[in-house]
Amino acid sequence: MKFGFDIDDTLLNLREHAFKIYNAKLGRDVGIDVFRSLTTIPVHDAFGLTVEEGRELWNAHRDEIYYSAPPFDEAVEVLQELVKQGHEVYYVTARTAEHCERTKNVIEKAGFPVEEGRFYCGMADLEKANIIGKLGLDYYFDDKPVVLGTLEGLELHVYAKDNSYNRHLTIPRIVNWSELLDIIKT
Ligand SMILES: [Mg+2]
Repeated sequence: MKFGFDIDDTLLNLREHAFKIYNAKLGRDVGIDVFRSLTTIPVHDAFGLTVEEGRELWNAHRDEIYYSAPPFDEAVEVLQELVKQGHEVYYVTARTAEHCERTKNVIEKAGFPVEEGRFYCGMADLEKANIIGKLGLDYYFDDKPVVLGTLEGLELHVYAKDNSYNRHLTIPRIVNWSELLDIIKT
């Protein structure tokens, strides 16, 4: 079967990583409980910053955040296991074009299985549905409500990667990546 994955906050724990970096850069000690109760995708609210201040902070540290964010627990192992079982793994990330090559490299370096022609990058959020449909994926995983909302008409299994800002969605969700191997067993 064909499995497609978003990267940021689906396979990589990007926001929590950004939150920790912001704490360090701002000399703050905002608790992880504040992060966990955020209902917005940007994390600057946790620091009482305006949208503009949040954007500036993000832009100043984006590269560090992008290229040092760790995978979620078991994400690498589970995707490796999928490939071992004969499945195809695709990546579909809306990171901008200038980040595509480096992102692919860092994902590979983290141990994710990346095969030629199965790394899609640089599209807008709303173009993902088109790519996912054309690839004929059987499963797709993403964290972002606006993306997940565009996939309803497609013939595939769509899962939300559980995050505090997508709990209002009623579609199936993955909390820990180890659950995926049980899902495909059934
Ligand atoms: Mg994402």
